[in-house]
Amino acid sequence: MPKKKFEVEYEEQVCSLSDLKEYEIPLLHRVIEICREARESGNNPFGCLLADADGNILMEQGNEETSRGGDCTAHAEALLMRKASQAYSKDEMAKLTMYSCAEPCAMCAGSMYWGNLGRLVYIGRESELKKATGDDSRNPTLNLPVRVVFASGQKSMGIIGPILELEPEFMKCHDGFWNPSDK
Ligand SMILES: [Zn+2]
Repeated sequence: MPKKKFEVEYEEQVCSLSDLKEYEIPLLHRVIEICREARESGNNPFGCLLADADGNILMEQGNEETSRGGDCTAHAEALLMRKASQAYSKDEMAKLTMYSCAEPCAMCAGSMYWGNLGRLVYIGRESELKKATGDDSRNPTLNLPVRVVFASGQKSMGIIGPILELEPEFMKCHDGFWNPSDK
């Protein structure tokens, strides 16, 4: 079989707090707290929350891979989408925003797509996270932009991120947590 190259056109973006409404900023600080809480509970330091268009928090979720006995699908965003899609219709989901600590992996981006999430706001770049985790078997971070995953779908989804001003605060949750083999 001939080798094939798979290409998707997408617009790379870097965002900032000024791209958000004022009430959204505390939501992102809360997401970073959820990451710290996940780490304190023995899980990987990731978290997210779901909010309505007025900024009311509907659901919060931290990573639960360890709590769930090593469930590799227990990323915060995938767990949240599983809960949310049982609580809200696809039409309702289209009006909601997920605030996440980092650019979601392909699995989580897929769950957002299937769950008809309307909008995603995220803080940290997947590329920055990959520098911290390296190939640590607990989180061998992918390098697949969420915009590529969404651009491969059949509908448009709102994305704001990364939010560079908050990225260092998020990455602090990862200090000393990962053990990449190349460091
Ligand atoms: Zn994920």
